[in-house]
Amino acid sequence: MKTASVKLKRQPMHESEESCSNNNSEEDPPGKRSISDDLEEEPPSKIATTRYRFFGDIPDSLWNDWKWQFRNRITRVEQLAQFIPLSTEEQAQLKLVTMRYPLAVTPYYLSLINPDDPDDPIRKQAIPSPMEMTMGSVGLEDPLDEKRDTVVPGLVHRYPDRVLLVLTDICPMLCRHCTRKREWRNGGWVRSPAEITAMLDYISQHKAIRDIIISGGDPLTLSTRHLEYIISRIRKIKHVEIIRIGTRFPVVLPQRIDNELCSMLAKYGPIWLNTHFNHVREITPEAAAACGRLLRSGVPVNNQSVLLRGINDSVEAQTKLCHGLLKIKVRPYYLFQCDEVQGTEHLRTPVEAGIKIIEGMRGHTSGLAIPTFVIDLPQGGGKVPLQPNYILAQTEGELVLRNYEERVFHYRNPTTLARPEPPAEVLCPAGSATASLPQEATANVG
Ligand code: SF4
Repeated sequence: MKTASVKLKRQPMHESEESCSNNNSEEDPPGKRSISDDLEEEPPSKIATTRYRFFGDIPDSLWNDWKWQFRNRITRVEQLAQFIPLSTEEQAQLKLVTMRYPLAVTPYYLSLINPDDPDDPIRKQAIPSPMEMTMGSVGLEDPLDEKRDTVVPGLVHRYPDRVLLVLTDICPMLCRHCTRKREWRNGGWVRSPAEITAMLDYISQHKAIRDIIISGGDPLTLSTRHLEYIISRIRKIKHVEIIRIGTRFPVVLPQRIDNELCSMLAKYGPIWLNTHFNHVREITPEAAAACGRLLRSGVPVNNQSVLLRGINDSVEAQTKLCHGLLKIKVRPYYLFQCDEVQGTEHLRTPVEAGIKIIEGMRGHTSGLAIPTFVIDLPQGGGKVPLQPNYILAQTEGELVLRNYEERVFHYRNPTTLARPEPPAEVLCPAGSATASLPQEATANVG
């Protein structure tokens, strides 16, 4: 394992992504911009992460430049082996995996990994596992059947009032549990101007669409200028009420959430941002600062985590994660059952594990800290929330319920029948109906 003297060189993830980066190269010049303003406002943490062990010779001005981070992602197993102890045999296995499912991790995210712990929860999200191949035939390529609901290239219209806009398949990190793993081998595309126009035309023509989710890949891999061009065009469509952005940048490359991006987003609200923290150790001072900048720009931040075996599949891990999120004012929104995607089976948990986690949290922490546990159904069935069952029995007019302490309560359940019929005299024709009502009632009539 190398130490702080390691120098990073640009390593394209694979050819197509490199060419895609080139597509943006005029618009997205690589990290020349100083972000010293950000540094003055929120200095990066000096916590003893592996940053200083591995990247100690990288000055803050580069480390905090998201384009430098992006260009210097670790994308080859030989590179990875400079940071994480990997035997020759392990390296050979991982090379096979990355031929099907590539590797890409930012120096920032790599610095959160404990390189000496093979079971590190951060490592498991970023570093390939041979099980991606050995269990690779289990599951589906496109479990949510997004292709079926694609109305024009890049636009998924499943629910009546909202659409998903997939702008690119490029991500700052390739998360090993990704639902769109199938896209990785086509990697490196960005929607063309003609495709964007086709998507926006469709939205303009469908007046029921009030909510647009901009996703990817990760849409924040586009330059702020490019994003503004798209968002400003969306904002011209009168019936679109809200825009949501799905991004993992606050977690894997928080430096991307810079003042330039936040000022742009502030102009086009209401914009909501959904991000994807899975473990409390991802909530670093840098990530907290990124979320703070978004919040100060009027962009509420929600978290959608995925339940992952050996990463966050315990009450303790989820409670710590959700408490950490609330401390940085990010709402724990969804906890997803990991989709049945090929190459992720080793990370999936039984559904019961998620229900037990919610049960273990309920009553022991505030409802604000408890996400909704959902399964995104295959074949485009949509999201179904799953809850522990607190109803022990039900008779007409009564429920028998247990609480979080397993105490049993009887609860009178009001009838669902129509309201009781009023006395006959109230049914008299208008004008005489109030004649027999008591004095205090007549005072409020009319
Ligand atoms: S950031 Fe999201 S879309 Fe990209 S690899 Fe990770 S989970 Fe998949």
